[in-house]
Amino acid sequence: MGEDLEKLKQRLSLLDYLRQQNWIARPAGRGSEFVGLCPLHPETRPSFYVNVHKNLFYCHGCGQGGDLLRFVQLFRQLSFRQSLAYLEQYRAAAADPAAVLEKAATFYQQQRDRYPEARCYLKQRGLHDPVLIKEMRIGYAPGGSLRRYLTAQGYSSDLLQHLGLLNRKSHDAFYRRIIFPCCQEGRVINLYGRSIAAAFVHRFLPGSKGGLYAWEQVRQCPEVILVEGLFDYAVLWQAGFRHLTCSLGTHLNRYQFRQLCDRPRTVYLTFDVDINGSGQQASQRLAHQLQVQGIAARRVLLPEGHDPNSFFVQGGDAGQFQALLEAALP
Ligand SMILES: [Zn+2]
Repeated sequence: MGEDLEKLKQRLSLLDYLRQQNWIARPAGRGSEFVGLCPLHPETRPSFYVNVHKNLFYCHGCGQGGDLLRFVQLFRQLSFRQSLAYLEQYRAAAADPAAVLEKAATFYQQQRDRYPEARCYLKQRGLHDPVLIKEMRIGYAPGGSLRRYLTAQGYSSDLLQHLGLLNRKSHDAFYRRIIFPCCQEGRVINLYGRSIAAAFVHRFLPGSKGGLYAWEQVRQCPEVILVEGLFDYAVLWQAGFRHLTCSLGTHLNRYQFRQLCDRPRTVYLTFDVDINGSGQQASQRLAHQLQVQGIAARRVLLPEGHDPNSFFVQGGDAGQFQALLEAALP
């Protein structure tokens, strides 16, 4: 056990773990040290140091210090043995998170047709093509059943919490949400959950949303339509537009931006035209950034107050959308 423990501790980076807990740090001094606010006691000036080479921490404020195992004991208030079990799970999840997310995605997919509220919501958002629903692997999280399903398969609550599938109280994190798996190179790397109740904002699991949605299918296209939401993507797909991708929000991460710029192409930015103008501001900013990289950007102007989804749900058709594409602003 002593040997395994040493191996486990060597393989896990304290800094990576802290960052995954949203610890914010800056390099201190000679490069192998980082400093930030102490996660173990309240403070306003950073006194918590991590030495990357030694894989150790020390806080000058509260005087606590040690290795990752010690940190987990203090931070999560676990015994030595519990901390060890916790880190084993952490390592397993870190080794292959996609395998667990794949299981979750499949489970949610299986729930979709069992719950009338899910069918009803999809219909209300204009999604009716069973081929598309299957292709996008759209699922439904009723809430309260994923935990049982995955723990029965041997996944611990700790591991599922690491991935964000369960919340801190160990309940299903997604509750009454339509689920879209986000994939990269054929593996599920995140899940997007859209609440079927208006009151709750959409959300992802912690971690990267990855690249542009279904990018492999369109990267060869000289013209690409970019939308900000998956419901927008879905209705355009149903209307016959296939040179289509989605950034999952108006802010593109660096990876997504690089994808758009990887060869000469024209990008039709089709963001929401909301009353407060935020979608169009984002669209203008992105158009400018793309043009700087030599990419032709056109801004598609939907009628005021619309996104592509509402445009089609409220009776817009492919011909009308095509006219908007042709009228898009440089
Ligand atoms: Zn401290």
